[in-house]
Amino acid sequence: MRELILQKLKILTDAAKYDVSCSTSGVNRTNNRKIGNASASGICHSWSADGRCISLLKILMTNYCIFDCEYCVNKASNDIQRASFSSEEIAELTIEFYRRNYIEGLFLSSAIEKNPNHTMEKIIKALLILRNQYGFSGYIHVKAIPGADPILIKQAGLLADRMSVNIELPSEESLKLLAPQKHKKNLFLPMKQIKQGIEETTLDKKHFKSTPNFVPAGQSTQMIIGASPDNDLTIIKNTQNLYKHFNLKRVYFSAYVPVNKGQNLPSLQLAPPLVREHRLYQADWLLRFYKFEADELLNANQPNFDLEVDPKMMWALNHIQHFPIEINQASYEELLRVPGIGTKSAYRIINQRRCSRIRVEDLQKIGVVYKRAKYFVTCNGTYEGLKEMDAQMIREKLVPKKTFEQLSLF
Ligand code: SF4
Repeated sequence: MRELILQKLKILTDAAKYDVSCSTSGVNRTNNRKIGNASASGICHSWSADGRCISLLKILMTNYCIFDCEYCVNKASNDIQRASFSSEEIAELTIEFYRRNYIEGLFLSSAIEKNPNHTMEKIIKALLILRNQYGFSGYIHVKAIPGADPILIKQAGLLADRMSVNIELPSEESLKLLAPQKHKKNLFLPMKQIKQGIEETTLDKKHFKSTPNFVPAGQSTQMIIGASPDNDLTIIKNTQNLYKHFNLKRVYFSAYVPVNKGQNLPSLQLAPPLVREHRLYQADWLLRFYKFEADELLNANQPNFDLEVDPKMMWALNHIQHFPIEINQASYEELLRVPGIGTKSAYRIINQRRCSRIRVEDLQKIGVVYKRAKYFVTCNGTYEGLKEMDAQMIREKLVPKKTFEQLSLF
């Protein structure tokens, strides 16, 4: 029996590694003297460099799937080892791992076994056992299965801290090409429902303190990068729309790992585009915290990010006519657009200017990366960049001479 569980665990944790849409931020569920604590796991989270989070039991309920998405290792036509946990097994495993201090929470995803409702019901049952039978108050992130009944999505939302519906592919054309059984409507419906549920709960809580939580840590999604021919402009525009329309906490990008052969897929030999994934994460940061719009970063003439420089540097080099700006006069928004100046250092500059003029020697203490910023700013009238504001020459100064190949994670 134990052997069987271990075997399933091996198969289903391995199958879950391709899903990166998990993170534990933003929840403070109290434990009411039961076991587990979402605050501890939610706030003291860690991510690996590429955005994958740790200290959750990340597992699939099953890898039996009725769908045949070309890019997916679990697709119905693949001849792989299959396994399926019962809801009771998932709950027991989570508690066992939690008690051994291996994990702080659960990330439960699933392939679509039999039909979306059946899969969603199994997920909900596991959550009910965890929350009610074991009194587990720790962090739980579950996948909303597209196509599942809205009542089931609602039930899951009342038990989980975070939910995610994976968009997977950035455009409808790519969905038709690589995942024809998936429909845009089925992906967006649960997202819309979760968004509305969160808004209603927030409103109700103002009047009734006893209103139960509904997805308190918000929702997220994942897009696979490089499986389809979509360019970065399409991806980043989609990302912006998802934040605007569905109030997502995060959009995760997952560099495509070539696991299947297929005439519509990139070759198995192609290295995963990890640098591209990294650039998209940087651009996502610019959208969320630096007040950039997607179509400022890329356009039809330049639809992909430069892999050698980060998106903010790329924007600055493409708009060299806006520079240099004077540190002692620029607005907060203008400072945010300077490579080498982050949100904190821009804020500190504005604050310090209220007391005294800023000198070049102050910039490093403020947190400005001056070796990058110096090409784009004057400080007290002093410019320490190049003799000419020439984008190409600045680029040559800033691009590292040697580039190293990033290794695959899998
Ligand atoms: S539905 Fe999900 S698990 Fe099933 S083949 Fe498609 S991507 Fe894979």
